Amino acid sequence: MAAPIAISTDVLVIGSGAAGMYAAIEASRDGAQVLLADRSLIGRGGATIMAQMTVAAAIGEETPDDWQHHLANTLAAGRGLCDEKLAQLLCEDAPDCIREMERWGVGWARKDGHITATTAPGHDRPRCVYVDFINTGPAVSKTLRTVMARNPAIRKAGDLCIVDLIVSGGECTGAVAYHLSSGAPVVIATKATVLATGGLTRLYARNSASVNMGGDGYALALRAGASLIDMEFVQFFPIGHLAPRLVGMDPIMWDPFRYKLGGRLLNGRMEEFTSRYGSDEDGKYVLTRDLATYAITKEAEAGRGSPHGGAYLSFEHCTAAQLRAAFGPVIDRLAENGIDLTKMPVEVAPIAHYHMGGVKAGADMTTEVPGLYAAGEVVGGANGANRLSGNAITEALVFGRRAGRSAAARAKNSMPEVRAGDTEAALDLVDYQGPGASQANTAALIGQLQAAMSKDVGAFRTEATLRRALASLDALIADYGDRPAGERGNFDMRRLDWFDMRNMLTVSRTVTQCALNRTESRGAHQREDHPQMQPQWQAHQRVTLRDGKLTITSEPVAKQALAS
Ligand SMILES: Cc1cc2nc3c(=O)[nH]c(=O)nc-3n(C[C@H](O)[C@H](O)[C@H](O)COP(=O)(O)OP(=O)(O)OC[C@H]3O[C@@H](n4cnc5c(N)ncnc54)[C@H](O)[C@@H]3O)c2cc1C
Repeated sequence: MAAPIAISTDVLVIGSGAAGMYAAIEASRDGAQVLLADRSLIGRGGATIMAQMTVAAAIGEETPDDWQHHLANTLAAGRGLCDEKLAQLLCEDAPDCIREMERWGVGWARKDGHITATTAPGHDRPRCVYVDFINTGPAVSKTLRTVMARNPAIRKAGDLCIVDLIVSGGECTGAVAYHLSSGAPVVIATKATVLATGGLTRLYARNSASVNMGGDGYALALRAGASLIDMEFVQFFPIGHLAPRLVGMDPIMWDPFRYKLGGRLLNGRMEEFTSRYGSDEDGKYVLTRDLATYAITKEAEAGRGSPHGGAYLSFEHCTAAQLRAAFGPVIDRLAENGIDLTKMPVEVAPIAHYHMGGVKAGADMTTEVPGLYAAGEVVGGANGANRLSGNAITEALVFGRRAGRSAAARAKNSMPEVRAGDTEAALDLVDYQGPGASQANTAALIGQLQAAMSKDVGAFRTEATLRRALASLDALIADYGDRPAGERGNFDMRRLDWFDMRNMLTVSRTVTQCALNRTESRGAHQREDHPQMQPQWQAHQRVTLRDGKLTITSEPVAKQALAS
């Protein structure tokens, strides 16, 4: 075996979205030397840079607000499943993070000299700040990248895919990675590790995120001995772009259009239909994501969908001047795609967008594995069964900052010993070349997994579809083999796909099995064969992996608030 590249650092942060970058900044501020690793380009690989809309925080500059109102709305949307200490942390620390981002130059949109905010569904007042012309995520990423660039205590390593965490004597002591462009194996020894790898929406064929969102962090955490909670709660964004073809634009960009301009949701017969499903929108934007997903899906299933199987979204009531005033350069980009909103509706349909479940974490972002912290979307519980619009970037900022602080505190300890045996299994996989290597077409397998998850574990599930999905996953496991496909020592997509598939299979199984167990409908988890919410299901499902076997247990919801 080629000798791995050995790196040692106080704090390793895995993932450079908002959570990872904020964690790196905070850990270095508290005196730690940090390595920030990402399988993509630093600060450009995950969901953060794609997010174009809003960030929820009770800053109350325009309309009086308080974090307790934000918390009340978050808990209501979470349908009784929020981990209240995490939800409180998210809401209470949010204004401070927003103001720090402002000092760092993010450029939140302003009106009359103060930061302006918009109202998103489920929030009881204007609370969602933004950077104008749907530029919020790129501005957040750029701001954090700029702060890091001035900081010599943060080393950055892009193209570094973390394959497994290292566990020595029950503690996390680093990670095994491979460098994507050279295939070189890498061992990173650390005093503390922050997992900030984002979500899992790549498990679904139609998703809003980047290819790096295959749920690596959930699989890494499970294999290291941490637990996951609420894995059945995948959020589908109701109005993901469907048609006509749209190149180079965010598929969920219609949300900010709706914030500003209302917009009418119409079925294939050009009728408004949401009143059939409990809410008359009347051209406004009031429907929460789970209800809108339900309304559009059911309308299409009833044969009243738009030509591509979704709904129409129309801004034809707006003048060209109104559209330009609201979205300036975005209107030109739409025109390049042949879309003139004054003359035509677009088609939209639900799309996998965000994951409420994830790694079980305490208020200081500790996981059950000492030395391992989690931050951002990879953390489960803060948003319960359904996330409010704008809460995800907030969660990334708030939890990232908290995780960085906790990791830096642990990094005051001495460097733990990493023995060769602790890295052997992961290095064997990274370096494997020889008999028994998977011959599978790994890209095709990923496509099959995504198709099975979309068809059978989508926004609406039944026992029959979930059992069929488990059978599909079993068949895929048999096909993909237990030794990596492709070449070591080179850039090889087959090898990367094999490692991705390894994680996607594990994570898909947790989502599907938890969805099968939960015989009720709650928030984003909708069981058509169990349409009601059941009081006995006001509980988390906790997933652990021991000796290769997934175990799922029920756990009461943490109701205990933090002292503030
Ligand atoms: C199109 C879109 C629009 C959105 N709009 C909004 C919005 O307006 N408001 C809002 O609040 N939320 C929004 N969200 C959700 C929000 O953007 C995310 O929840 C949030 O940015 C997640 O931040 P994060 O730092 O946890 O993860 P990410 O930003 O996703 O970053 C994770 C990073 O981890 C890296 N990574 C993953 N696996 C590995 C590995 N094995 N090794 C090394 N690196 C790895 C990835 O490359 C990536 O760079 C949107 C999401 C999408 C996809």
